[in-house]
Amino acid sequence: MRHSTWRIGGNAHVMVFPGSTEQIRDLMGLARDFGIPWIVIGKGSNLLFSDRGFEGLVIKLDSAFSKVTFEHGVVTAQSGVSVPRLARMAAKAGLTGLEHAIGIPGSLGGLVAINGGSLRQSIGDVTRTVTVVTPEGRIETRSAEGCDFSYRHSNLLHSGHVIAEVILELQPGHAETILRHMRGILRERQEKFPLTQPNCGSVFTSRPELYHTLGPPGKLIEDLRLKGLTCGGASISHRHANFMVNTGKATAQDVLELVAQVREAIYIRHHVWINTEVMYVHPDGRIEPVSAVSPDAQTLKTVNPR
Ligand SMILES: Cc1cc2nc3c(=O)[nH]c(=O)nc-3n(C[C@H](O)[C@H](O)[C@H](O)COP(=O)(O)OP(=O)(O)OC[C@H]3O[C@@H](n4cnc5c(N)ncnc54)[C@H](O)[C@@H]3O)c2cc1C
Repeated sequence: MRHSTWRIGGNAHVMVFPGSTEQIRDLMGLARDFGIPWIVIGKGSNLLFSDRGFEGLVIKLDSAFSKVTFEHGVVTAQSGVSVPRLARMAAKAGLTGLEHAIGIPGSLGGLVAINGGSLRQSIGDVTRTVTVVTPEGRIETRSAEGCDFSYRHSNLLHSGHVIAEVILELQPGHAETILRHMRGILRERQEKFPLTQPNCGSVFTSRPELYHTLGPPGKLIEDLRLKGLTCGGASISHRHANFMVNTGKATAQDVLELVAQVREAIYIRHHVWINTEVMYVHPDGRIEPVSAVSPDAQTLKTVNPR
């Protein structure tokens, strides 16, 4: 719960904060040898953990693995670095290209895994190479083309690979202008998003084809007058309809039910199923979009424990 920006979910059995690529590789090797389920997380800003927690090893990449160097517009960064911190460092070094990411409270690894971004830009646009630890324990560097970046997706997501280091190629710019632009973006986000209550950013994916025909998910939800709809402690934000906030004691079950209700309402009106950007971590370590999980999944598992 403490490692998810939604502040929801049970405990993990073990959490480790590695400080080098070799340590990540060794942890993955140990988990493989002993048959322990493992997952990798960054800031937990795109994850809903089960109320039952996770029965395995969490490899958490954060400030212990966040070294960044700059050389002639080329940024080499360990994947645990916080995205707003990296964006600010780049701006101060007079480099443009990460302005859109200033308000995204994730780690660089999490951002690259889902090819995240905002203002119609994505981190893949400025990525040159990504160094990963493969499921077999090899340390490999692949080009951006080898990551198959597409809208909010890369082939690294849920592939058993851990993103360790990323090389970004940014363009020269004027530090003060870039910082001013970033401050403007942050101001707009503060006005638009419910940032004072625990949340996980946009819950539903804004697929380009839907965006052009029906509009973004927030608009569809707002048009159906679902703002304020509540399940237990989870509520659709009054400020932005694609945000669900934890009003105090929300459970994963509350969020699963709220997501299911919104999807059904949109299906009844528009005959399309919208899917979530936010992902659910099952107690056994499987990770899949929240929209793919039945609200009964948790209850059934509790009633019929393994
Ligand atoms: C207030 C708010 C605003 C947001 N705004 C935006 C936005 O504008 N645009 C946007 O795209 N997102 C946004 N998000 C969502 C989220 O911040 C991003 O998706 C972010 O990139 C997730 O990074 P993370 O480190 O928190 O990843 P986590 O939530 O920890 O993990 C997400 C997924 O990435 C995988 N992963 C994490 N690190 C690695 C790694 N090193 N190697 C391999 N896989 C990894 C995890 O296994 C998991 O499947 C927002 C969230 C919040 C709370």
